[in-house]
Amino acid sequence: EFIVYLQPKYSTVDEKIVGAEALIRWKHHERGLICPNDFISVFESNGFIVKIDFFVLEEVCKCIKSWIDDGIEPVVVSVNLSRVHMYDSNLVDEVVSVVDKYGVPHELIEFELTETIIFEELEHLIEVMKKLKSAGFVLSMDDFGSGYSSLNMLRNAPVDTLKIDRFFLDEIMATDRGKIIVEASVRMAKQLGLAVIAEGVETQEQLDFLSSIDCDIVQGYYYSRPVPVNEFEIFMEKHR
Ligand code: C2E
Ligand code: CA
Ligand code: CA
Repeated sequence: EFIVYLQPKYSTVDEKIVGAEALIRWKHHERGLICPNDFISVFESNGFIVKIDFFVLEEVCKCIKSWIDDGIEPVVVSVNLSRVHMYDSNLVDEVVSVVDKYGVPHELIEFELTETIIFEELEHLIEVMKKLKSAGFVLSMDDFGSGYSSLNMLRNAPVDTLKIDRFFLDEIMATDRGKIIVEASVRMAKQLGLAVIAEGVETQEQLDFLSSIDCDIVQGYYYSRPVPVNEFEIFMEKHR
């Protein structure tokens, strides 16, 4: 009953699709389409999230492989990795074996991770990130600014991309403080040599502000909601 949706990521410079995020959906036989916020936390506590994330990774690999086989230039697709995986000592080997099964180049897979407030966990998380990074995967820090240790993690974690939390986007338009925080985050990320993506972009106003501060990439309802793979492929054809 699970399916993977893709939400495009757009370049603010030329409005081309530069990637996608894979997001799980549950098509319940009685209840219809259920969104992750209604089940992720349950699956995190019973461990089922591990299976979900590997399922998503595998679907994404199949999808990228089919683009390559069909002569379509692939884009990087990101997969969310729950913190629950951090307790799996074979995580990196398991990830590599799935991706290699489909012959997908590692640099086409990005992992979105969230920070943690527990110090021992943070050290462990950074170790896992280093291994994923040296295996050639792209790493992004999801929900930047929403936790307690954002800057601490940024200091040590080998991430390629900073993903500014959606809730800052509401702030942007509402207050000057919001604008200052987002602008400074973008500048800091760039000085650290990271790409920056803003998620949850819904309005022209937000988009204009983000382009004006050189935020490279945006993702949000303004361009597209998460959509089934075949719909994403139509977008991809139009916006390349
Ligand atoms: P997230 O990783 O922060 O994903 C972004 C969420 O923001 C997605 O919600 C997406 O649909 C939503 N979003 C994107 N653009 C907009 C916008 O313009 N406005 C608004 N209001 N929302 C927007 P979704 O798909 O419901 O997922 C919610 C959360 O569930 C995700 O947040 C992520 O933490 C988790 N999740 C989703 N799929 C997976 C998965 O395969 N594995 C794991 N571990 N977690 C997942
Ligand atoms: Ca994410
Ligand atoms: Ca996020």
